[in-house]
Amino acid sequence: MIAFADCQDLRKMPVIKEIDCPKCGAKKGIEVIERENHTIGDSVCDRCGYAIPEGAVLELYLEQLT
Ligand SMILES: [Zn+2]
Repeated sequence: MIAFADCQDLRKMPVIKEIDCPKCGAKKGIEVIERENHTIGDSVCDRCGYAIPEGAVLELYLEQLT
C-alpha cells in the first residue's frame, strides 16, 4: 500500500469559490480561484464583466469595496 504522506500539500491546492458580484450583485456571478488566500488569475463576473485582479486577498478586497 502507498501512504499519502504529503497531505500538507493539500493546503496549497487551489480552491474554487463562487461569490456574489460586488458590482451588479449577480448570485455566484464570479468564480474565484484562490491559493493560500490569494486569487489566481482575473476573476470575471459572468454578467457585468467586473474583474477581481490576480493576487488579491479576497476577503480584504471585498471589504475595501464596501
Ligand atoms: Zn457583475
